[in-house]
Amino acid sequence: MSTQSQENKLGYFGRHGGQFVSPEMKVRLDEVAACFNKYKNDKDFLAELDNLYKHFCGRPTPIFYCENLSKQLGGADIYLKREDLNHLGAHKLNNALGQLLLAKRLGKKHIIAETGAGQHGVAAAAVSALYGLKCTIYMGEEDIRRQELNVLRMRMMGAEVIAATSGQKTLKEAVDEALDAYIKDKDSYYLLGSAVGPYPYPEIVRHFQSIISLEAREQFLTMTNSLPDMVVACVGGGSNATGMFANFIDDKDVALVGAEPGGRGSKVGDNAASLVHGKEGILHGFKSYICLDDKGEVAPVYSISAGLDYPSVSPELANLKDLGRASYVAITDKEAINAFFMLSKTQGIIPALESAHALAHAIHAAPGMKGKKILVCLSGRGDKDVDQISNMLKQNLIQMP
Ligand SMILES: *Cc1c(COP(=O)(O)O)cnc(C)c1O
Repeated sequence: MSTQSQENKLGYFGRHGGQFVSPEMKVRLDEVAACFNKYKNDKDFLAELDNLYKHFCGRPTPIFYCENLSKQLGGADIYLKREDLNHLGAHKLNNALGQLLLAKRLGKKHIIAETGAGQHGVAAAAVSALYGLKCTIYMGEEDIRRQELNVLRMRMMGAEVIAATSGQKTLKEAVDEALDAYIKDKDSYYLLGSAVGPYPYPEIVRHFQSIISLEAREQFLTMTNSLPDMVVACVGGGSNATGMFANFIDDKDVALVGAEPGGRGSKVGDNAASLVHGKEGILHGFKSYICLDDKGEVAPVYSISAGLDYPSVSPELANLKDLGRASYVAITDKEAINAFFMLSKTQGIIPALESAHALAHAIHAAPGMKGKKILVCLSGRGDKDVDQISNMLKQNLIQMP
């Protein structure tokens, strides 16, 4: 993997990453790291994963040329990597399946996971059902209220959903409580949903998500006889972005851009753009950029998109920022909604609100890039967001264009 060279064995990506955990947590993480390093290139492991990607996930996902949208913008040609066509409608399953196989190799009987909007919870519940393992999902009480359908999906697939009731009652608290439960149960495996957390998780999640760019780079070459000039992905914790960037990092002429949730604006508490607006710090066992308030404490974060509102970010993406290899932009709610409607109307594809952030950057950049090509990671489909959009329309907060 091309990005391997940027990290030493302690799990650092430049100044970021590492493992800031208790001794008892370190024992558990070492076990996971040893298993990952043993099996990541193992023939039987790869064959099992490949089979699941093909027959359970529906991989490879296609690349689609947005002819109508590109013509309307009158600049660069815009292409989508269709991660929305995965089973369950997003890229999350790529990682959940890989880690499930690690849990199985470790002989664990119980899957524990956190979830924000519920998309990772649904993926964790699905893979647990598939392999007959007990599954417990921790979810903020506030998110449970907002994401009723995903909670029901998890329960239908046999998972227990436990409400995190401390603090802001959202993703950060769900992670805190899930980690507590994990330490208490030695038979459990922590299935982390994004490229965050202490070593080895950022590396594991990027590894399993890099299937996105492994496919995309080759597909794009076959389709256009060239590489894209720009690759764009939205950034929550950073799993779809690290996966989408991985196999393009060595292609120095390919610009890598991460689209962060700019929310209502740049004020503390109005966004979750840790790379654009954050400062360096430690949260959940690793060092990276974090949205902090004036006192240097973790700020409350906000985004229209529940899947993007995590106050920190992948240490690898943080290092790519420091190196100048990737750049990051903050996309406001308004810009994301505009992109959401634009893709729906021009191409008949309703994107997830998360993915609409990446698309919004492509829409901004395209007019000034005539003759160039932009590849956007469409991380998920928007069916899950239709209810939220409907409520906003009813309250006249937005208008259908
Ligand atoms: C969860 C989610 C994201 C954000 O998570 P990353 O780890 O940053 O990829 C983006 N898009 C969709 C569709 C999601 O479900």
